[in-house]
Amino acid sequence: MSDPLYDLYQELILDHQKNPRNFGDLPGATHHADGTNPLCGDVIALDLIVDAQGVVTDVKFKGSGCAISRASASLMTQALKGKKIDVARELFEVFHALVTGSKIPKGKEELLGKLKVFSGIREFPARVKCAILAWHTMKAALDGVQDGKVVTTEGNE
Ligand code: ZN
Repeated sequence: MSDPLYDLYQELILDHQKNPRNFGDLPGATHHADGTNPLCGDVIALDLIVDAQGVVTDVKFKGSGCAISRASASLMTQALKGKKIDVARELFEVFHALVTGSKIPKGKEELLGKLKVFSGIREFPARVKCAILAWHTMKAALDGVQDGKVVTTEGNE
């Protein structure tokens, strides 16, 4: 029997893997970070433009890796555009709870939107890092990571 959420998950992941959204360079980026998931070999470079009001007006990523890491980065960029950075940080916490199977704070689940398709990842602990890589990289970019420092998922659940 087919599970509708599983089908949606497959479809969305494949779509975003084949046609990643917001992929490429971002001239005028105000925030940048590089991330790696050594367990799987996923790498990502993330650029954001945050305006004077603290709104993420644009975000792009580059990199290579497995379907999950790519789809997660692609869907993340879509979710972040137009969000204030405090909401982006909140979204990190909620997504993190979703993929690690922790409790999602009450009333926060709707923040996830399409990102809910990653709920199945918690059944595959080895892939959680693939899904979370882009998000750790985003958080580091917002925190102002040192130039040349690469964010790693190792020791960073
Ligand atoms: Zn991966």
